[in-house]
Amino acid sequence: MEIKNKKYIFVTGGVMSGVGKGTTCSSIAAILKAKGFEVTALKIDPYVNVDAGTMNPTEHGEVFVLDDGMECDQDMGNYERFLEKSLTSANYMTTGSVYKTVIEKERALKYRGKCVEVVPHIPLEVIRRIEKAARKEKAEISVIEIGGTVGEYQNILFLEAARMMKIKYPKDVLVVMVSFLPIPDKIGEMKTKPTQYAVRTLNSAGIQPDFIIARSERSLDQKRKEKIATFCNINEDYVISAPDVDSVYNLPVNFEKDKIGEKILEKLNLEIVENNIKKWEKITEKIKKIKKNLEIAVIGKYFSTGEFVLSDSYISVIEAIKHGAIHNEVKTNLTWIDSIDYEKDPSKVQELKRFDGIVVPGGFGERGVEGIIRAINYARVNKIPYLGLCYGMQLAVIEFARNMAGITRATSKEIKENSKYTVIDIMPDQKKKMEKNDFGGTMRLGSYKALLKKSTIAAKAYNDSLIYERHRHRYEVNPKFIKDLEKAGLVFSGFSPDRRLMEIMELPKAYHPFFLGTQFHPEFKSRPHNPHPLFLEFIKVAKKLKFQAKK
Ligand code: GLN
Repeated sequence: MEIKNKKYIFVTGGVMSGVGKGTTCSSIAAILKAKGFEVTALKIDPYVNVDAGTMNPTEHGEVFVLDDGMECDQDMGNYERFLEKSLTSANYMTTGSVYKTVIEKERALKYRGKCVEVVPHIPLEVIRRIEKAARKEKAEISVIEIGGTVGEYQNILFLEAARMMKIKYPKDVLVVMVSFLPIPDKIGEMKTKPTQYAVRTLNSAGIQPDFIIARSERSLDQKRKEKIATFCNINEDYVISAPDVDSVYNLPVNFEKDKIGEKILEKLNLEIVENNIKKWEKITEKIKKIKKNLEIAVIGKYFSTGEFVLSDSYISVIEAIKHGAIHNEVKTNLTWIDSIDYEKDPSKVQELKRFDGIVVPGGFGERGVEGIIRAINYARVNKIPYLGLCYGMQLAVIEFARNMAGITRATSKEIKENSKYTVIDIMPDQKKKMEKNDFGGTMRLGSYKALLKKSTIAAKAYNDSLIYERHRHRYEVNPKFIKDLEKAGLVFSGFSPDRRLMEIMELPKAYHPFFLGTQFHPEFKSRPHNPHPLFLEFIKVAKKLKFQAKK
């Protein structure tokens, strides 16, 4: 039975960013789903960029791609993973996209002569989009994450939208603040004062939070709960402890210790339909029991800005590896290797010997590619399980062309503009767009169908002959070279239905235990309870090789 009024939960951040607002939203959404409701999640990004496609991943984190081709914030990936469903562009907006719509409407005389103002027209457009997404998703409850932290100039209009919505639907809107409680080393005590200030700042935007999620290293003690309750004008039952956890997939179970789901539903006047949290309990248990460990090298070129950025730039790859690992009952220890190291000192590539698997994720540009190719060569020759994602596939084709198919000067159009040996090239329709300088439109984006060749590693892993996967790239395997590559032993095990575009390359099992690359990004569709088949297979082979060898 569908509920009468749609419900909306806004989630804002207090004190500082990077404390897990996205995974908190995702966990709340997952818990409410487990209690029997149709739930969706939206992200509002306060950037003027119209989408995330033009943002540098080292600054903003991974560009996540949806089925419909929307390039968006990595949190959309968290929502998909926790909600176990694919979302659409209706669930993502930026300041830029909101303003764009308002300005276009104004130009089309849609405001009928009215003076168009930042308030109320911008928040009204935000509200229109939130309601539209809820309708489209048939969501009974929408969880809406407002990017940034309160007190920032740039998200104030989104807080205004939340405030206006709360007036519009007083019984159907909740506001959750995800705050941070530091434990300074020198003091050794958890401090609540920054949270108090953050709530006061939110109050000055006309909003009183209904829940405060207290993120910290440790659990909140009773004294801190009481303090927050008193100074932040909130009942202590609605202050939820959120200590650090080993795995984000423990979060739903952890939140449920404080009965967050029940409390939210009670505030929204909803009754629990079912209690299906078992799935999350199971995965939490499974993770706890794992003892075996695999060493995985991730080789790329975005790594120069320090470790923190790394995990954000490749979050879906990291999560997909984890999903594959959890279901193979192993842990994975990832080592990030900057490919430039192998250009400076080619002999350093020998260090790859100690790894159980090698992954080359997506990337752009020519910097560092020769180092990556060197690493791929090492993986191929030394029979280390290899998984190449997008650029990782293209560079594997180049390596093979150079060293196995006799095309010694093989390259990509992206690396060398004027070469006769572009085994990776730009397709004619993309080229036209590039010439017009329409860079935003030059990528192949979103979900495309591919067919799989029978009896290949890919077909066996998917256990299917037709797949849909998400893309984000400009270049493709050049049809001119396909025959030569195949003759030399390379197998294109996935291709577009018209057979023009090569989607998966692999080497026969007799030659290499697992050497496979995908033109698409399988990591975007991997889910904790339903790992992506290629990641599952990659980890399975790596595990088998490591632990069989020891026997
Ligand atoms: N740079 C390559 C291309 O544009 C690969 C892109 C990627 O890895 N996402 O085709």
